[in-house]
Amino acid sequence: MTAATDVPAILPEVQSFLSRPHKLLINGQWVDAASGQRFNVEDPSTEETIASVAHGGAADVDEAVKAARKAFEGPWRTMSPAKRARLIWKLADLMEDHLEEFAQLESLDNGKPLTIARAADVPLAIENLRYYAGWVTKLEGETIPISVPYAPGATFLDYTLREPVGVVGQIIPWNFPLLMAVWKIGVALATGNTIILKPAEQTPLTAIRLGEIVCEAGFPDGVVNVVTGFGEAGAALANHKNVDKVAFTGSTEVGHKIVHASAGNLKRISLELGGKSPSIVFDDADLEIAAAGVANAIFFNHGQCCCAGSRIIASPGIAEELEQRVADIASSIELGRGFNPTTGMGPLVSREQYDRVCSFIQSGQEAGAKVLAGGEARPAGLDKGHFVKPTVFSGVSRDMKIVREEIFGPVVVVQPFDTLEDVITKANDTEYGLAASVWTKDINKAHKMAAAIRAGTVWVNCHNIFDAAAPFGGYKMSGYGREMGRHALELYTQTKNVIVQLH
Ligand code: NAP
Ligand code: MG
Repeated sequence: MTAATDVPAILPEVQSFLSRPHKLLINGQWVDAASGQRFNVEDPSTEETIASVAHGGAADVDEAVKAARKAFEGPWRTMSPAKRARLIWKLADLMEDHLEEFAQLESLDNGKPLTIARAADVPLAIENLRYYAGWVTKLEGETIPISVPYAPGATFLDYTLREPVGVVGQIIPWNFPLLMAVWKIGVALATGNTIILKPAEQTPLTAIRLGEIVCEAGFPDGVVNVVTGFGEAGAALANHKNVDKVAFTGSTEVGHKIVHASAGNLKRISLELGGKSPSIVFDDADLEIAAAGVANAIFFNHGQCCCAGSRIIASPGIAEELEQRVADIASSIELGRGFNPTTGMGPLVSREQYDRVCSFIQSGQEAGAKVLAGGEARPAGLDKGHFVKPTVFSGVSRDMKIVREEIFGPVVVVQPFDTLEDVITKANDTEYGLAASVWTKDINKAHKMAAAIRAGTVWVNCHNIFDAAAPFGGYKMSGYGREMGRHALELYTQTKNVIVQLH
């Protein structure tokens, strides 16, 4: 018997996965990198090496692009929509069969609590695949009644075809490694594209396991290729003349580089970048629910969410009580290894992120902000791992780095507002525009705020709610294009118009 508080054992299949040296998936084969190089993957809670994977570079990307092109021109293009749909559905079933294995790998690789990977990351990925499997047989064109003024008396049939874009490079980050991979491949496969997936160097494991079940599901060779590696492999995709589209999630800095690189062959791009999302709390909100909600908005996934609610903006009447409640919640979060069932927050993903987040915390302190919780790194008892205590700052001003820049860690600032105009100004006072949440019982305020906030998602009395059917993406420097829902189909299809003169 195991109790809910027991630390689960690593599954034998996960042990065996970790002990195998991993290769690149190119044209349906697992191959070594052309350079022969490999790199190690660490568990961020112990800083120990847990796996070794191939270090793919430009030469490997080139081979993968050739394979993807061949598959696009060949079996994938001619496969019936019903068969394509069944393959995607099969992939979802296989992922569900291996749910615990995926969840364990994700927790070990990224540091996130196993309970979260099991309840959120993997099930969301499975549902995303099923949602897009449903679309494959429903991608319809249209017939258009045209008149052609300079061809009087002639009759035409005008119709459109929705065709795939072609070979797509998909470059993903480390915060939700499996989910980000699936957000990208599900819709791309459903619309008939072929893929080269480049996982983040910090977290390549679930993408490799995904590649294995792609092979098991029976996708034709070359439809999905997985090239593990560093930024150089991503850059090779972005620069490649034979890649038709790049989809990228990650930093705004690399987003800029991708835009520049895309100019070579004018490839299409979609970008999901950073954020500095506000959580806005009005004084009529249920304070207990709002405090828990805005705390979760920032601390979920250790603040490593592009849509993290990293700026709490509160009515002056409740700001003090709210910040104290959020600080109390922050102080009560248990930090620990992902496998421990009582862990509320794991380590940050890497030493680099740890250093980055700690330097933000230090800059907040130096700028004179008041620390209500956290403010330091590793808690006592954890002598290894990239742990950072959840941190709440108040007494901030708009020019502070911690108010302006994306921290991508468990650090939140609280600012009061005066009027409705003031809160709208403060909410939009950022170069980003990914998301926001509004906490109020007043339906008028809720809808006014939803309309006034310049962001791709506005949540009301909730935050971090995702569904495969609901579009997600950024305004302003948070990027462009929408993932999920019917909107993502637009990113991966192009319209062909066919005009037939009827004699
Ligand atoms: P990043 O460099 O933007 O990494 C994202 C992906 O892009 C990774 O697969 C990365 O490969 C790849 N990449 C790096 N340089 C590239 C290039 N020149 N061309 C094409 N692809 C390239 O993000 P990071 O360095 O891991 O994190 C830095 C900051 O980015 C974070 O602190 C956070 O602010 C932001 N971030 C945002 C998101 C989001 O969801 N919007 C996710 C992660 C990070 P490598 O892994 O090998 O670098
Ligand atoms: Mg990077």
